[in-house]
Amino acid sequence: MNARVLIDGPSELVFDYAIPADLPVAEGCRVRVPIRQKTTSGTVLAIDETPDQSEFAMREIQSLIDPEPLITPTLLKVARWIANYYGSSIESVIRSILPEAVRTEDNSAKTRRIATAIEDIDPAELTKLEKRAAKQYAILFLLLQAPDRTLPVADLGENSAPSLKSLAAKNFIRISTEEIRRDPEAAEIIVASHPLTLNQQQQDAFEAIKSSLGGLGDLAVQPFLLLGVTGSGKTEVYLQSAQAALDLGKTVLVLVPEIALTPQTVRRFKARFSQLEDQVAVLHSNLSQGERFDEWHRIRKGHARIVIGARSAVFAPLPNLGLIIVDEEHESSYKQENPPRYHARDVAVLRAAFEPCTIVLGSATPSLESWQNTLTEKYHLLRLDQRADAHSMPLVRVIDMRLEKQKQKGQVAILSDRLRSALEQRLAKGEQSILFLNRRGFARSLQCHGCGYVCQCPHCAVALTYHRTDERLVCHVCGHQSIVPRKCPECQNPGIALQGYGTQKVEEVLQKILPEARFARIDADAMRRKNALKDILRNFKSKKIDILIGTQMIAKGLHFPNVTLVGILNADLGLHVPDFRAGERTFQLITQVAGRAGRGALEGEVIVQTFTPHSPSIQFARKHDFDGYAEQEMEMRRQFRFPPFAHCAVLTARSTHERRAEFTLQTLHLRLKEALPPGISLGEVLPSPLIKSHDQFRFQITLRAHKARPLTNHVQNILQKTTLPDDVTVVFDMDAYNFS
Ligand code: ADP
Ligand code: ZN
Repeated sequence: MNARVLIDGPSELVFDYAIPADLPVAEGCRVRVPIRQKTTSGTVLAIDETPDQSEFAMREIQSLIDPEPLITPTLLKVARWIANYYGSSIESVIRSILPEAVRTEDNSAKTRRIATAIEDIDPAELTKLEKRAAKQYAILFLLLQAPDRTLPVADLGENSAPSLKSLAAKNFIRISTEEIRRDPEAAEIIVASHPLTLNQQQQDAFEAIKSSLGGLGDLAVQPFLLLGVTGSGKTEVYLQSAQAALDLGKTVLVLVPEIALTPQTVRRFKARFSQLEDQVAVLHSNLSQGERFDEWHRIRKGHARIVIGARSAVFAPLPNLGLIIVDEEHESSYKQENPPRYHARDVAVLRAAFEPCTIVLGSATPSLESWQNTLTEKYHLLRLDQRADAHSMPLVRVIDMRLEKQKQKGQVAILSDRLRSALEQRLAKGEQSILFLNRRGFARSLQCHGCGYVCQCPHCAVALTYHRTDERLVCHVCGHQSIVPRKCPECQNPGIALQGYGTQKVEEVLQKILPEARFARIDADAMRRKNALKDILRNFKSKKIDILIGTQMIAKGLHFPNVTLVGILNADLGLHVPDFRAGERTFQLITQVAGRAGRGALEGEVIVQTFTPHSPSIQFARKHDFDGYAEQEMEMRRQFRFPPFAHCAVLTARSTHERRAEFTLQTLHLRLKEALPPGISLGEVLPSPLIKSHDQFRFQITLRAHKARPLTNHVQNILQKTTLPDDVTVVFDMDAYNFS
């Protein structure tokens, strides 16, 4: 028998090796293999059962790195699917499934020496020891006081080795080695929570999910889409469904958009399952390599039965998986923008089908892709139409900022009169407010009033953003920094001034208008300090802050009962980007942000400031009308053949040489066109909206097709046959989310 082995490293080498008779090599095993004069490591992708036909002897696998396969057969299947569907290399997929921390051998489990006193030591012996060997007696005394009569050797003081040796020789103690878990959450205190009595709609949803947990044998279970308005108690349904899966002896995977931005969801899972000590594992990007190694193996061995994580946690090696939950399934952060460019929600659906297990996608504003799947009955729709606490949805008012601008004599109006007086009212009543600033495409840039020159990044085609805290201009694409010029670099006019506003400016203005209010700001700048977000959220909860100002970071999952006012300062800015999902994103954002208001006994109000008050995404969000929004948006998508009615992929060419990037893409365009299979539509070669980034010029082609596979296959086929210039990078992005 032979094994097909993928060699570790960037070059994607796959070789066949013979399996020695005494070595239990299986698919997904990590192995050591010879390559030229050296030994290297790799992963077994497949095993060929047919006897070896080749004439020359094949080299043999030397040894197994881990006794068992690290990749389950299901995950190996998922890996192959991703490679085919997205046209990515299997190597990059395996690298995502087996994180760096797991593949590197020097992260292996940490151990420590411990000393344990034996039971029933004769008191007479102790007295003797006290007289003859004071130091040995002192150590033994400490051990006898300790829990389980055990302490780490390191805690017994320096120079304790000889005494320990004597004590062991006299059979008073035993020295042994124990594995220590590098526990990332060791210091955290969690208050337990108990299941709530579900309302009728929650109960119906829960029953449907629960009854599917038993599975249909080998058949895939239909995915559920849980559409519940903000505050409808989706999380409670997740929690009870997770409990039901655990009760059946199965494990649970929970995906959230971003761990750092959803601390409340994570805490609610920990609180509910706090009695299952250490059975909840949270995978986030701040884990050290050692912690990641330990958590990964805890999950693989089935010790952690609930895993919560962002995108890449979709590959968590849970055995016996019973339930996958994808919270806020519409979030674009599930799309990975580096190779392999997969969508974690779609991979989760696929994994659920392969396992097979139950999957629940939840959102107040589902993606139109998932919505379409409920219309065609591929997914089963579950609905929660009311807030769980029977309070009404917040009242949403739309303010036309064009009129406001006239009133304020053309100044950049940050606060409308209406929002300003609403803030004053809340302050007087001791209630809290959240102000949301849409960051997308809108930051403070420096523009000359004389010639109109805008300070741009020299490496990217975007305006630099002004940061007040360190008096600098910063590029939000590549990080380039420069000083703030005193006069226009083009025309020497001193009238170079800031355009637009950011969270810092909002805070500044508010401090003038409401000097007695207490503010906090949540944006990428303010979050550079560790734990900053946690601290601010805690202070907000305990009402030490009156007004929270933030960007996209505060749109998700926060639940503060005392918040009765949410102001959206610039609702429509997301609308003016060249992306067919712009309207959908704006609708989602307004609905989600508005959902932070009135989540307690007090009624909520939302004030939406906009320059385009009549756009459908704003009007439907105002009425909390997902169905209405979806209907009109789907009509548009159908007409123009956009997803969910077609798959949409982007082929991009990048190079520091503008002409070479364009020419390469034109060549590819010709070849793609020559043998274009039916059903695929090929767009023209166009400059990307972000024409230059990190010193590279970018051109792109958009492709659309009813079926994904033929499209990926065709492009991969042409790419393989075409030799690209060294200084041009070509990227294929299937089901793309980023068109800039
Ligand atoms: P969602 O996840 O849909 O936004 P949450 O799960 O955060 O909604 O629920 C909103 C609030 O309602 C939370 O405070 C939650 O504890 C409460 N809640 C949920 N279900 C119930 C229920 N059945 N009875 C009473 N309160 C509930
Ligand atoms: Zn830049």
